[in-house]
Amino acid sequence: MLEEILRNKNLEAILFFSPENLRYLTGFSGGEGVLLVLRDRKVLMVDSRYFEEAREDASGCEIRLWEKGTKGIAAVLHDMGLHRVGLEAAGISLATYYELAREAEGVEFVSLKAEVEALRAQKRPWAIELIRRAVELAERAFGEVLGMIRPGMKEIEVALELEFRMRRMGSEGVAFDPIVASGPRSALPHARPSQRPIGKGEAVIVDFGGRYHGYCSDETVTLFAGDPPEELKKVYQVVKEAHDRALEVIRPGVGCREVDQAARSVIEEAGYGTYFGHGTGHGVGLAVHEYPSITKDSPSELKEGMVLTVEPGIYLPGRGGVRIEDLVVVKEDGFELLTSLKKALRIL
Ligand code: ZN
Ligand code: ZN
Repeated sequence: MLEEILRNKNLEAILFFSPENLRYLTGFSGGEGVLLVLRDRKVLMVDSRYFEEAREDASGCEIRLWEKGTKGIAAVLHDMGLHRVGLEAAGISLATYYELAREAEGVEFVSLKAEVEALRAQKRPWAIELIRRAVELAERAFGEVLGMIRPGMKEIEVALELEFRMRRMGSEGVAFDPIVASGPRSALPHARPSQRPIGKGEAVIVDFGGRYHGYCSDETVTLFAGDPPEELKKVYQVVKEAHDRALEVIRPGVGCREVDQAARSVIEEAGYGTYFGHGTGHGVGLAVHEYPSITKDSPSELKEGMVLTVEPGIYLPGRGGVRIEDLVVVKEDGFELLTSLKKALRIL
């Protein structure tokens, strides 16, 4: 795939910056460095802090000790006599790009985005196994925490217990800071856990993920701390229906926008269309949000081996929200659920 990009774009090399692509393309997990991919070899540039680690992790690469920053990159490009180089555009800031363009005089840079973001999309079986392990340890931690959640417990306490248990079970940190949002705060799709105590009968959205050998999981459970108001019960059923309909259409060759549409149409028909403001899902791998996006206007198509979330939600300002999120892998004849927590209405 890399050779194809080099050839199609008529490039001598490609520079990668993101920790995820460095890890994917070389095995190096130190996070900081720059990777230069040429037609016949890979050169990983790291500073002295990571040199030994890079030599161990990235055995198939030439490891170069470099002076950190754009000067260092420019020196390597000049040293190798390169003139036309692709850039992983999503991996650097605009400021760094301008600096690099100035330092590396005589080198023409070509911005690459769509070409490189699909690189990691179709997971190999071993990567799917690592994601499965991340799911397993996150779900085990959630199972322990579930027994502790009751009215009066603070959101932040739930988040902390979850994170603590995920780490103790072997998660490398967390895939992202867990979201625990109760009552009116559950209507904020990306709320940060607060000091707010969970109230009786309120919705509690718990969105969490573990990380195993770099690979993430991502799952959301919405539960109720006691019997919820009728409206939220109804909303739950609509979101569950939207979630199930989206799953039904997943198979190779289907457009991501069709998956989004399957969920969205259920929510729109129930009259809640304006309360579902985000996409239906996203790819998950070394990054918790990666290609492809499952949105209304996504041009991408599902392929075997893609791992993605299905996570419709309805958020009623001031009243509460519901999101149901599962993780699936696209298989030859459909999909397989990677998450296993039951998503039926759960009242504590
Ligand atoms: Zn999530
Ligand atoms: Zn997600």
